[in-house]
This record gives sequence, structure tokens and C-alpha cells, in this order.
Amino acid sequence: MNPLLQTKKYRPATEIVHLDCVNSGPDSVSEPYNSSSVPIYQTATFKQTSSSGSGAYDYSRSGNPTRSVVELHMAKIMNAERAFVVSSGMTALDVILRLVSSGQEIVAGNDLYGGTNRLLTYLSTYSDIKTHNVDTTDVAAVEQKLNSEKTRLVLLETPTNPKIKIADIKQIAEITKKMCPNALVVVDNTMMSPYLQKTLDLGAHIEYHSGTKYLSGHHDLMAGVIGVNSADLGDRIYNVINATGCGLSPFDSWLLLRGVKTLSVRMDKQQANAILIANFLELNGFNVHFPGLKSHPQYELHNKLASGPGAVLSFETGDIGSSERIVESTKLWGISVSFGCVNSLISMPCRMSHASIPEHVRLERDLKEDLIRLCVGIEDPADLMDDLSNALTFAGYNVKQLES
Ligand SMILES: *Cc1c(COP(=O)(O)O)cnc(C)c1O
Repeated sequence: MNPLLQTKKYRPATEIVHLDCVNSGPDSVSEPYNSSSVPIYQTATFKQTSSSGSGAYDYSRSGNPTRSVVELHMAKIMNAERAFVVSSGMTALDVILRLVSSGQEIVAGNDLYGGTNRLLTYLSTYSDIKTHNVDTTDVAAVEQKLNSEKTRLVLLETPTNPKIKIADIKQIAEITKKMCPNALVVVDNTMMSPYLQKTLDLGAHIEYHSGTKYLSGHHDLMAGVIGVNSADLGDRIYNVINATGCGLSPFDSWLLLRGVKTLSVRMDKQQANAILIANFLELNGFNVHFPGLKSHPQYELHNKLASGPGAVLSFETGDIGSSERIVESTKLWGISVSFGCVNSLISMPCRMSHASIPEHVRLERDLKEDLIRLCVGIEDPADLMDDLSNALTFAGYNVKQLES
């Protein structure tokens, strides 16, 4: 084959749908029938050709061809040295947290995913691993907590959820590498997906995702994805996954691969809808948090890190009762936790996804009880706006419409 063709990189939307990790050389997975859809190798064990064992696979906890294909594909999309798929986003974080020894410290954001907060609290309660929660939009605040002896992880989410604040991954990675050469910069990139933001290129050592969200796109499976920037880290992560047995099952690996192929079309549409909805809410006088709006305090920073604002936004009404009436009177927007699905969702984070964060901590972190989060889907945006307009009217607002 022409070597130029072999190394050619395509544009992101093409790379996402084009599988080049099956039957394409020594580092690819071999599949004897050249099937168009990668088969589900629903097997726990693989027969060996000799008593000393010699096949590429022996036991599905250690490796499975269906899982390998999605791992190689994810590594390509994330620009990772190596990628892994596990049973959920929280499992991905749990695997990464095993790189931290007792006595070491974590510096993390103060507007974290609720489950992340719960797992970090577990560690500080039952083992000697302390987390400092700081405002990661303030690089100096992160720097202040870095300790060259103790800091092992700097854990970032950007945009944060649900307040949609932006952390400067690039600058934080540079400072961390200078001050704490043994620390790892880890980014939860679930909100953006690798299509919009590639955090390993921005200086992170590890990027992880809840594959339950945009990567799969249909809320029909739970998965986690981990990408690393070095072979060494890859070996350590593989070791934990093999030891604990949390690798993604063959069937879920197959579903994840099927879902991820449409990531770019879904995200393009969801994002375009989200931009319209954000403008509509801003026109109606709400305090809207969305990095696609020029009014976002970190609009320019976000544009330097990512190629788009994504499709999750939040806004405040100033009154819990109004927020409840809005959320409960939409018809098209389903009341549900989570995001990244093809249909649109609405929620009140303090009552739902973030309820596990104690009220006094929510107050400290300025997480407003009346905050409404919207996760925008692929529906016709006119229907989404009509439905929101009706809900707002019901809640007593005099609604203005966007000029088309
Ligand atoms: C959902 C989510 C997780 C957890 O992932 P699960 O697949 O639900 O375990 C972690 N981080 C973020 C930002 C999420 O949205």
C-alpha cells in the first residue's frame, strides 16, 4: 500500500466513522470474515493452541476482540497512546484513582459531577487520600494547592457541570508539570467529547469519559473510556483493569462502537440546537450559562480549548417555585438526570444529579437551588422552543420569541 495513504489523517468527522483497526496490520485486530460490523465475541475463554498458551486472547477479563476494536478506535479519536473501555464513567475514575497512594493528595474542582464528589469523599473518609476542592477557573487557586511532595492528581472538568465554568487545561497542565513533576493531570472530558475537545493534546496525561453520554448517544448502555498519553501509564491502567475485571463486556463494547460512529452528526445537530435555545433564554432575560454565548465570562478561553460549545446549558430563574413550574410543565423535554442522549432533557441539578452533595457544600459552591439544566437533543429546534415557551408562559413569564 502507498505509505502516504497509510499515515493519512482524515478530518474529525471522518476519523470518527472510519474504522481502521481491523485487519490492517500487526497492531490491528484480526477478523477472519471481514464482516462490516465487528462481531460480538460473546465468550469468556479462548482455546489455546498449546499448553503454554499462545493466542492473542485467553480470558475476557484480560482481553476480548470486540473490546479491543473499540479501544483502538477510541485511542485514535482521542489522540491517545492507548485507550481502555470499562463498565461505567465512575469505574473509569475508580481505575484512575488507584494510581494515587495513601498519603498523597488530589486537587480537584468545586463544581464536580456529583458521583465524582461521592467517590472522592469515600477516599478521604476510608483511606488517607485528601482532596482539595478549588475553583479551577482560577489558575492561581489551583497553584496554591499544588504540593510537590504530596499532589498526585489534578482532576479537571471543563466545562463544569452544571455551572458551565471553564478551566484552562493548558495552563494548569504547564504549571503542574513544572511544580509537581510526579503529578498527573486528569480531565473528565464527558461534556465535550473528543470530537470537540482533545485534552491530551492540551497537556493532560489522562482523559476519561462517561461513555454513557455523548459517545454512545442513546442512553442504552453504561460505559467508561480512559485515554492515556504514555505507554507506561497504559501498562498501569491495564494492570488495574485486568486485576479488578471491570473491562467493558463484549455486547456493551459493540453497542459503544455502534453509537460512537454517529458522534459527529449528533453533536453538530445538538450543538446547533443548543445555540438557538441559549439565545432564546438570554433574550428572555435569564442568566444563562453556555460557552457559546459571548456573555459567558470565559467565552474566549473556551474557544481556545474546544472547537464548539457543546449542547449542555444551565440557567437561573431566581425563584425555586418558578423553576419547578417550568421543569414540570415541559412536555418534550424529559425530566431526567444525565445528558448526551439524542432526545432533550431538563432537570434541576440540586434536586437530582447533584443531590448527593450536602446542602451546605452546595451553598458554599454557589450552586443555586433554582438552577435549571438543559441537555439539548436532535429534535426540530422550533418544537423545543415552542415547548419551552409554553412552560415559561405557564410559569408566568411574558415570553419573547427569537426573530427568525
Ligand atoms: C455521567 C458522568 C460521569 C459518570 O459516568 P457514569 O457512566 O454514569 O458512571 C462522570 N462525569 C461526568 C461529567 C458525567 O456526566
